[in-house]
Amino acid sequence: MGTEYVAAGARRCGARTRGGRPCRNHPIRWRQRCRLHGGASGTGAPRGNGNAVQHGRTTAAALAARRAIARLIRESRRTLEDMGG
Ligand SMILES: [Zn+2]
Repeated sequence: MGTEYVAAGARRCGARTRGGRPCRNHPIRWRQRCRLHGGASGTGAPRGNGNAVQHGRTTAAALAARRAIARLIRESRRTLEDMGG
């Protein structure tokens, strides 16, 4: 046992290990868990699965639409600046 030192701010997997302690591996990028605890590629629901959709604000389609709008605003703003605005 002994005190465990975890770097402040460092992301950790945190899944409970067989020893009952939190896993200290680093999670896979964009994921919460390390590759041993559910972060491996290929895990999770298939693309397009709607089982957990509640309001649709974060579906792939909604996110893409939001990105497109954000880009349009960004480009419009740049155009205005180029015109001396
Ligand atoms: Zn882990």
